[in-house]
Amino acid sequence: MSPTQAEISPKKLLQIQKNTYQHWVGDGFPVRTLFSYSTLGSLISPFLLFDYAGPKNFAPTEQRHGVGAHPHRGFETVTIVYSGEVQHRDSSGGGGKIGPGDVQWMTAASGLVHEEFHGRDFARHGGILEMVQLWVNLPAKHKMSAPHYQSIPSAAIPVITLPDNRGSVRVIAGEFEDTVGPAHTFTSLNVWDLRLANPNCFKVEVPDGHNTLLAVLRGTVSIAGSETLAAAEVALFDRTGGHILIDHASDAVALLLSGEPIDEPISGSGPFVMNTADEIHQAMEDYQNGKMGVMT
Ligand code: MN
Repeated sequence: MSPTQAEISPKKLLQIQKNTYQHWVGDGFPVRTLFSYSTLGSLISPFLLFDYAGPKNFAPTEQRHGVGAHPHRGFETVTIVYSGEVQHRDSSGGGGKIGPGDVQWMTAASGLVHEEFHGRDFARHGGILEMVQLWVNLPAKHKMSAPHYQSIPSAAIPVITLPDNRGSVRVIAGEFEDTVGPAHTFTSLNVWDLRLANPNCFKVEVPDGHNTLLAVLRGTVSIAGSETLAAAEVALFDRTGGHILIDHASDAVALLLSGEPIDEPISGSGPFVMNTADEIHQAMEDYQNGKMGVMT
């Protein structure tokens, strides 16, 4: 098979998202929301939301900092910890710790109630908390599936070293070149954690038809000939085209997200993302009636 024109051409840069406004999630997570479906809708599908917490230094404490019991329904939350430690617990009795390099891929689907706090050991010693929580949408036919978790320790995530000292790629989900990431997903998508030392014109192959985002967490990344992204900035690319071009990067940490769009209506409110307003009302009612579970 020969490549199509779309595969040969680069994905066009559509816009750069910045958000310097920080809000607290509970008393543990100082978050900048770098993109959201509420403003970008189908342009970022299947991704819904990107919360970047920290980096922030926390003093040693015996107190619990975080966010108490709250529900989710209709999507997945993906927690990627860079520094510090997150301890979670849910209404089905599950729980665990997410440390540096680890990923928790939680399929909330039909609904659960959980809490997210700093890990006790991390809190006692204090230190830098830096993490990402990504929300990934589910197709309508899977929104009411049973909830489950994928705990993905750092050691289970393959690392590919890029040639010419350009850095490395951790494949969390999807496929980078011939390496497949450990996360099971409901739709075709990629989550790649990039360390870019100093690539000179690094061509990153990304499937034609995938909405594509590049979120820079540390350092700077130059793309599309002239635009330079700094920390906490996100480039949104057109779904048409077979690659993006990174011209230069300076000690950068970035997440590349791409996915096949879910071509369905989005109706969301707070911790619920469904297809219709009626389903949102139902979610609120089900939560209030304890049908998503109750923390004990
Ligand atoms: Mn949550």
